[in-house]
Amino acid sequence: MHEKTVDMLIVGGGLAGSLLAWQCIQQGKKIHLIFDPKTPSASKVAAGIINPVTGQRLVLQNNARTLLNTCKSYYQSLGAHFNTTFFFEKPMLRYLRNAKEAVAWEKRRANPDYDDYLEETDDPKVILQHHTGYLDTQALLCKLHHEFKHQGVLEHATMQCDEIDMYASHIRWRHITAQRIIFCEGWRGQNNPWFRYLPFQPAKGEILDLKTSSISPEYIINCGRWLLATHDGRLRLGATYDVQQPLNEWISPQAKDTLLADLKDMPISLEDIEVVQQQAGIRPNTLDKQPFLGFHPKHHALGIFNGFGSKGSMLIPYYAGVFIEHIQQQKLLPKSVDIQRFTCA
Ligand SMILES: Cc1cc2nc3c(=O)[nH]c(=O)nc-3n(C[C@H](O)[C@H](O)[C@H](O)COP(=O)(O)OP(=O)(O)OC[C@H]3O[C@@H](n4cnc5c(N)ncnc54)[C@H](O)[C@@H]3O)c2cc1C
Repeated sequence: MHEKTVDMLIVGGGLAGSLLAWQCIQQGKKIHLIFDPKTPSASKVAAGIINPVTGQRLVLQNNARTLLNTCKSYYQSLGAHFNTTFFFEKPMLRYLRNAKEAVAWEKRRANPDYDDYLEETDDPKVILQHHTGYLDTQALLCKLHHEFKHQGVLEHATMQCDEIDMYASHIRWRHITAQRIIFCEGWRGQNNPWFRYLPFQPAKGEILDLKTSSISPEYIINCGRWLLATHDGRLRLGATYDVQQPLNEWISPQAKDTLLADLKDMPISLEDIEVVQQQAGIRPNTLDKQPFLGFHPKHHALGIFNGFGSKGSMLIPYYAGVFIEHIQQQKLLPKSVDIQRFTCA
């Protein structure tokens, strides 16, 4: 490997590292991206669903309008670049499951902030959600990694933190000299010696791909579990949510049984169901449910761009822009995502 000097060394080839790398390149920055393609990652598994109103309390995502506009135009422009489509609009039918959700809906329907997102249907237990859809995460990452490889900025390697030498104005890793190193390691960030003081709360999830002889639903069905028919004929059922330690990335028969049992309770009947694939991954969730952006308080060349939890496809395009502006123009990070909200021991 030849010697190289870059603005940014990015660690992690999931959605966070890859979109950050892409945005940096668009702005004329020199980057080098490393990850091991054999390591499992959340992005390889994610359904990519974009949904601004979530949870039993039907909470509207802060800053939803901006996040949605940014991610849609971002994925559309990536689609145009690669001459394909990565983002698909798809409305969602949300089935209220209990009294708590029914009360939440009563509150939300009286709140004009929700008018754009939630609509009543003929059935009082069903809401039609707008501004939902999904990102074909795996297709997008495949295209991006191919392009990075072509540009010679991608290297398949696992970063060992003791291989990094730190100097006043730069860092050095093997053959790379970089002004900054940005860690986008997903849930593995909790083992990073410089950033493990941050309160990660990773959550394992499993997902099934199904085959059926029935016609697939035209809406995303959401009954706590969701069912998503994709443009390429897949029918995805997900996802489990498990924060129990120790975490692993193996598929389990229990998760498969749970998902299939919950499918039976869904208001849709599918004939001849066959499971064609089961996958597991770990979401990089955080204790306060906000991302981690910023630089280490003592080692200013070490940055983190992580903690996008269960909403990576909606959050990452916007926060990649915010992070780059912070680096280039010294713009302050929003307090809610700045890692300065935590104290480093
Ligand atoms: C079952 C499931 C379903 C999901 N569904 C959705 C959904 O519908 N919508 C949605 O928005 N989000 C969903 N998510 C969450 C989504 O996957 C994450 O928000 C997003 O993928 C996080 O991306 P990331 O790049 O931060 O992490 P990851 O995708 O985990 O990527 C981390 C990267 O870092 C690399 N890495 C780690 N350590 C090192 C190291 N030391 N050296 C080199 N490389 C390293 C890994 O190899 C990997 O490339 C789901 C997640 C799961 C598990």
